[in-house]
Amino acid sequence: MNWLDKLERKFGRFAIKGLSRYIVFLMAFTYCLIYFLDVSGTYIFKLMLIPDLVLDGEVWRLITFIFIPPTTNLLWVVFALMFYYFIGTTLEREWGSFKFNVYYFTGVLGTIIAAFAFGGFGTSFYLNLTIFLAFARLYPNYEIQLYLVLPIKVKYLAWVDWFYLLYAILTQPVPVKITVIASIVNYLIFFGPEMIAYMRNRSVVYQNRSRFRVIHAPKTAKHKCTVCGATEMDDSKLEFRYCIDCEGDHEYCMEHLNTHEHVREG
Ligand SMILES: [Zn+2]
Ligand SMILES: [Zn+2]
Repeated sequence: MNWLDKLERKFGRFAIKGLSRYIVFLMAFTYCLIYFLDVSGTYIFKLMLIPDLVLDGEVWRLITFIFIPPTTNLLWVVFALMFYYFIGTTLEREWGSFKFNVYYFTGVLGTIIAAFAFGGFGTSFYLNLTIFLAFARLYPNYEIQLYLVLPIKVKYLAWVDWFYLLYAILTQPVPVKITVIASIVNYLIFFGPEMIAYMRNRSVVYQNRSRFRVIHAPKTAKHKCTVCGATEMDDSKLEFRYCIDCEGDHEYCMEHLNTHEHVREG
């Protein structure tokens, strides 16, 4: 993610801190607006991403569609929003605010482009799905309670989602294929290089084994605690997270994540 690091150095200060808080808050607000105040169901229509109406001047639709809650059921919406909040902040702690912003807004942009290119409605369904898929890739063994009773690891849910996406790409008409691909482009940007490198490495390791040769990768630390300066090279068991309350992206070891004084710039 070299180019992302470069972008971060230039534009990192524009990242929205705690983005998931705002999105989840606005989804909850929208839910109340739609289902407690609006019996006739016209508000929700006003928020949808409909390209023809955007071109007619209703430009707010480019952003409001992401605040439409994922379900109409009050109980489920509470759980869904808590879950979105949880996986969103987890990703932000893992990547830092800037990369999480890039991931989220690339997904938004992909959704908008697909909606415009092929007409029809834009939906935040795939966007939210890619957030989940990123979470499942980073924490495959995290267990959630499906339907509140059945414990299941997120990697299995992710497999079901991938199967569903692949099925759509293989069997649906071209506009739908492209829409699905455009919506998951953020995932491909973030994890594609890693996946390709992994496949290459496997073949390299295989070749090297047969030649009895070992490649020494150059060692530089990826993570460093802002307080004590520890890196994953000091102890491979150490874990690091970005703090979403510090200004700018600052990383901490678990010991200092909750005990440091938040960085204030200026
Ligand atoms: Zn530390
Ligand atoms: Zn902090």
